[in-house]
Amino acid sequence: MDYFLTEQQMMIRETAQQIAREKIVPVRAELDEKEEFPWEVMKACGAADLFGIWIPEAYGGLGGGILDLCVCVEELSRACAGVAVSYAASALGTIPIVLFGSEAQKAKYLPDVASGRRLGAFALTEAGAGSDAGGVQTTARLDGDHYVLNGTKQWITNGGDAEIYTVVAITDRSRGPRGASTFIVEKGTPGFTFGKKEIKMGIRSSSTRELVFTDCRVPKENLLGREGQGFIVAMKTLDKSRPGIGAQALGIAQGAFDEAAIYSRQRVQFGHPISSFQAIQHMLANMAIKIEAARSLVYSVARYIDSGAKDYSKESAMAKVFPSDVAMEVTSDAVQILGGYGYMRDYPVEKMMRDAKITQIYEGTNQVIRNVIGLSIVKEFAKRAQA
Ligand SMILES: Cc1cc2nc3c(=O)[nH]c(=O)nc-3n(C[C@H](O)[C@H](O)[C@H](O)COP(=O)(O)OP(=O)(O)OC[C@H]3O[C@@H](n4cnc5c(N)ncnc54)[C@H](O)[C@@H]3O)c2cc1C
Repeated sequence: MDYFLTEQQMMIRETAQQIAREKIVPVRAELDEKEEFPWEVMKACGAADLFGIWIPEAYGGLGGGILDLCVCVEELSRACAGVAVSYAASALGTIPIVLFGSEAQKAKYLPDVASGRRLGAFALTEAGAGSDAGGVQTTARLDGDHYVLNGTKQWITNGGDAEIYTVVAITDRSRGPRGASTFIVEKGTPGFTFGKKEIKMGIRSSSTRELVFTDCRVPKENLLGREGQGFIVAMKTLDKSRPGIGAQALGIAQGAFDEAAIYSRQRVQFGHPISSFQAIQHMLANMAIKIEAARSLVYSVARYIDSGAKDYSKESAMAKVFPSDVAMEVTSDAVQILGGYGYMRDYPVEKMMRDAKITQIYEGTNQVIRNVIGLSIVKEFAKRAQA
């Protein structure tokens, strides 16, 4: 299928493919096994300007859109989703600065992000606040020209490895959902330390850590947007980034499909390659249909966002849910096509199946995301009924 990508998007795709081929595929099994952060790949992405995709040109970036980012994430994920999410979490952590940052904040942080010198991370989740982000307990109290942060964030991708963190904390509990604010917190700020590093089922080369704030004094000028805008910053950021999770899922599915198709031509049983059996051909056909449908959805939603659309929560949610379900189905089928070999670590489909699962969980579980889509549909029809 030709998706009529721009020249820049095709260049991004080729660059990401080259990095995947040369820098990721040879080491992905080892990174997974050792749970090692992919610094060498991050450096290669920096050198190839891939961290500049979502940063405006005025701050040293490429000024690309969500589709540009999705194309890159898809290709990196096709090789290794753990590496890809380490890259993509930097976008998640710094899109809030692009969207809500002051001129001074953008000038201070974005050029380093664009060059890959500093990675970003986004910190909303806590032990008691997962799907229910309103349960955030981390507080930020104004004291002179600083905010004082106290609390613990859980399961933060790039935690410990990133330098720039966007952190959601409660500034006024009495205001409910309008009582949260978002802050830029730099690694090395006194009172900001890292806790437990998680041992995970998949995306094991990515780091997932606790962030611990103990009387951490953050300069007042690091408040993003206005006080009370914390959840708006978070939700607008997630609306922009969810198609990226869809792209990650899409890449995983494509990678697994490729492995299964190649293997099916090589594996001989009953005197024939297994690809000659209709049962295998039908599985490959269904996998290919689902992948292309997922790609069409991710690309068209990304284009819709890039067109300047104002409200795209529902569409962005769809572009996360469908591809992540497809990734789980396709990777499971890929393991099936490889039979017992698919279950072994000698082939990458076993890892791809483990990696796929997270795409149904983070940036909103698929149940919660379906709530978002469902609510939006109900509201649309209520409006139509009133008109
Ligand atoms: C590897 C990894 C990396 C992550 N990275 C980050 C990060 O960088 N930054 C960050 O802030 N967070 C991050 N997270 C957190 C992630 O976004 C949350 O795990 C996710 O939002 C779900 O929250 P929870 O795990 O607490 O599940 P829970 O909210 O406890 O949900 C448990 C189950 O209940 C269901 N459920 C809950 N509420 C409802 C409802 N209203 N309707 C129907 N079903 C419901 C869920 O679908 C799920 O099946 C990460 C998580 C993981 C595992």
